[in-house]
Amino acid sequence: MNRNDIKRVVIVGGGTAGWMTAAALANKLQGLAIDIELIESDSIGTVGVGEATLPHIRFFNSALGIDEAAFMRETEATIKLGIEFCDWGNVGESYIHPFGDFGLPINNVDFYQHWLKHFQSGAITTPLHEYAAGVMSAKHNKFRIPEPSSSNIEQHYGYAYQFDSSLYAKFLRRYAQAKGVIRTEGKIVEVKQHNDTGEVVSLALDNQAIIEGDFFVDCSGFRGLLIEQTLHAGYDDWSEWLPCNRAVAIPCESTNPLMPYTRATAKAAGWQWRIPLQHRTGNGFVYWSEHISDDEACSQLLSALDGKPLAEPNQLYFKAGRRNVCWEKNVVAIGLSSGFLEPLESTSIHLIQEGITTLIELFPQQRVQQQDADEYNRRMALNFERVRDFLLLHYVATKRDDSDMWRYFRNLTLPDSLQTKIELWLSRGYIQRYEFGVFLPPSWIAVLLGQNLMPTGFDPRVNNTSDAEFIQTSERMRKAILNSVNNTPLHREFLTGYGAAS
Ligand code: FAD
Repeated sequence: MNRNDIKRVVIVGGGTAGWMTAAALANKLQGLAIDIELIESDSIGTVGVGEATLPHIRFFNSALGIDEAAFMRETEATIKLGIEFCDWGNVGESYIHPFGDFGLPINNVDFYQHWLKHFQSGAITTPLHEYAAGVMSAKHNKFRIPEPSSSNIEQHYGYAYQFDSSLYAKFLRRYAQAKGVIRTEGKIVEVKQHNDTGEVVSLALDNQAIIEGDFFVDCSGFRGLLIEQTLHAGYDDWSEWLPCNRAVAIPCESTNPLMPYTRATAKAAGWQWRIPLQHRTGNGFVYWSEHISDDEACSQLLSALDGKPLAEPNQLYFKAGRRNVCWEKNVVAIGLSSGFLEPLESTSIHLIQEGITTLIELFPQQRVQQQDADEYNRRMALNFERVRDFLLLHYVATKRDDSDMWRYFRNLTLPDSLQTKIELWLSRGYIQRYEFGVFLPPSWIAVLLGQNLMPTGFDPRVNNTSDAEFIQTSERMRKAILNSVNNTPLHREFLTGYGAAS
């Protein structure tokens, strides 16, 4: 690029990724005198699914100064305390992966390590989740906003939202436009590149308009209009590890009780989601097309609905993986254009957030520096790989072998990163921390134990705590959680008094 300054940023696409990017850049780059323009095409539309999130989105919203209750009202949001996984470890079993801790450390050793010792010896039979405030609230369909500064176990839980992501995009569009982002409707029909450098210089729309820019953010969805169709970044295909490649989605009428959690139910050739919003329940079936037809997947999904369908089924096709590079020349891909991992742990919107945060940190004010792009690509590659490993864990930590899909996972060679992690866990319950891993130890513990991968040992430092001290302290925590849950309003009552749409 021959210019010295980035004066015009062009965002291609107005889905969740495009408007999250526009809102955050408009907010965080204020004062840099940068014009931001977003182009979206009504005729192409957006992917139209994406309802469950991770707690980090709260920090994204609050960094933008967004009022939580207003946001919840406008996006028909409910609270998400975690995900209930049904039939994953074995048919008939279930567990909740919460956002929050399992007990508090005792004598500076993680609570779960103490629990492992006493559970393995048979001294206690209380399941670990009874020491997790998030799980117990979810099981009782209760919710209140936790006190972040409290050191009491009953306050140790996080929460995210279940919302309509297209309403979220509209909400952020209003925010971004109020901060000066220009929205242009039109279909991009040609991308012009610099003759020498290959950098993108302008976009031609179907109405003959030419949009020039210094820096481009590709939020064009699966097609990757700039990053792939123009710059040919290439795709790292992870179908070997995550072979599910299709989904069918359909909303239905909402039912009672209003669950403050998402449900993911394992099936013979994939899994189904159920996500309760205020005005409807989102449902979908993610599946491996080699083992089930589209028609059969659709009919299985329809027969699992617990309310009247509100739309026609929406069929989606994808391939698990990520772009070889998300930042190439003067283009950064954010959202589905940067890669896709099935929504088993609701990670796509989170990866959008990671992409935006990293871009802001490395935003080029002078020339685009290759080292900035390299660092961005390294971080995003790790973010994607960490999520991939965690998703794959759900398929391999299981006793299921009742279908071709489950038998496939039995014989799969795992990525080294995941293999190491499982081995460390199995010996003494050690959880290796990943750089840029969004899922912290409590998440791994939830899935590993929830799917019956019990370690053979434990951290020997727990032996410094007497059995009596453990029993007394753990009972105190369990009862504090129960008392608190008993005094917590139902999720629906919380919404009525806070962020209910009407
Ligand atoms: P899109 O929504 O596809 O938007 C692309 C934009 O680019 C549109 O505005 C389009 O008009 C524009 N565009 C494209 N080409 C052109 C052109 N030539 N000219 C002009 N404009 C153009 N994520 C979660 O976090 N939680 C979930 O529970 C979840 N569930 C999912 C379930 C499924 C089955 C799938 C497939 C995804 C799910 N996701 C989920 C992911 C989530 O839907 C996406 O990450 C999110 O919606 C972002 O999409 P996007 O903005 O990248 O792309």
